[in-house]
Amino acid sequence: MFSIEKNKDLTALNSLAFKSSAESYCRIEQETDLSQAISFVKKNNISFQVLSGGSNLLIAEYVTGLTLHMQIKGRKLVCETNDELILRVAAGENWHDLVSYTIKQNWQGLETLALIPGLVGASPVQNIGAYGKEIKDVLVKVRAFDVKQLDFIELDVEQCEFSYRDSYFKRNPGRYIITSIDIKLSKKFTINKNYKALELYFSENNITVIKLKDIFNGICVIRASKLPNPDKISNAGSFFKNPCISHSEFSALSIDHPEIIGYRISESEVKVAAGWLIENCGWKGYQSKGVGVYHKQALVLTHSGGANLGQLLRLAEKIKNSVFDKFSITLEIEPQHFP
Ligand SMILES: Cc1cc2nc3c(=O)[nH]c(=O)nc-3n(C[C@H](O)[C@H](O)[C@H](O)COP(=O)(O)OP(=O)(O)OC[C@H]3O[C@@H](n4cnc5c(N)ncnc54)[C@H](O)[C@@H]3O)c2cc1C
Repeated sequence: MFSIEKNKDLTALNSLAFKSSAESYCRIEQETDLSQAISFVKKNNISFQVLSGGSNLLIAEYVTGLTLHMQIKGRKLVCETNDELILRVAAGENWHDLVSYTIKQNWQGLETLALIPGLVGASPVQNIGAYGKEIKDVLVKVRAFDVKQLDFIELDVEQCEFSYRDSYFKRNPGRYIITSIDIKLSKKFTINKNYKALELYFSENNITVIKLKDIFNGICVIRASKLPNPDKISNAGSFFKNPCISHSEFSALSIDHPEIIGYRISESEVKVAAGWLIENCGWKGYQSKGVGVYHKQALVLTHSGGANLGQLLRLAEKIKNSVFDKFSITLEIEPQHFP
């Protein structure tokens, strides 16, 4: 039943574990809760924000207005043929549990997106991606509440205007509240070039006939060896986006820094590994007063306790400045300010 809590502690609900509380908070367990919550917001002329798994947030110490915690559960097979199927998944389902479920069914499409923290409803917001795949590659449509029209709408993949860690939803904050997504998965397994990163895992584990579950297991092993588990070390994943620069800029940088890591993403652009840039400015493993740079992956900033968001942002600023001074590249922060 829809109810509002006052002064809700959000410290355990953000993966950076910053001390935080919400002025008002409600759980959204069904779509009707959402209509009620938005009516409450409009009637009282207050602000609102949408919270899912809290794994991509820079949370304020005091979150004003109403915090809507998305907890709508459920998944449903919409249609299927011999080759493929469409699955509808509610916003409050855990992302990794969804990936595990599809692998158990032997449905291909999500295997490289294993172990990404958070809930399903947030996945289109920043077009989650890993190992060459993004949610846009399997997404059919998104169902969302349009706060302007005060009605539920559906957006197909074109309308979501996805790009690298970006979408129509991210560019229109506060307008759409995603309640479910439809994804298309394949029943026929095909191996493709995106699994290059797994070659070492396959050879070390003597896997010669590769199955779908081997890819999923490999991704889980590789990610667990490189990225900190937020339940043990507080973090928000990649703190900066990988910057995209022109081929000519990349060639110029390669003269002074032949080891620079970049991936061609289009005729005109190269995506540079931000972790490499940060590591080469000497930040990897840096720790000071509760905030730091993860010792195995310089792209991840961590909070070991007792610090606040301001301290983390000051560290991020220092990192940005040193990367700019050395490479003339401006890093952009990936997690979202909340509110
Ligand atoms: C260890 C670690 C590894 C990570 N690895 C990856 C990775 O490989 N690839 C990647 O892309 N990301 C990665 N991330 C980032 C993060 O997991 C994803 O961005 C994830 O989708 C965030 O989900 P969430 O439920 O935690 O969203 P939250 O952090 O709660 O919210 C993120 C943003 O989306 C908005 N939002 C959330 N749900 C909804 C909704 N239903 N409707 C409208 N707006 C909504 C929020 O208001 C907020 O602005 C990683 C994070 C961590 C901690």
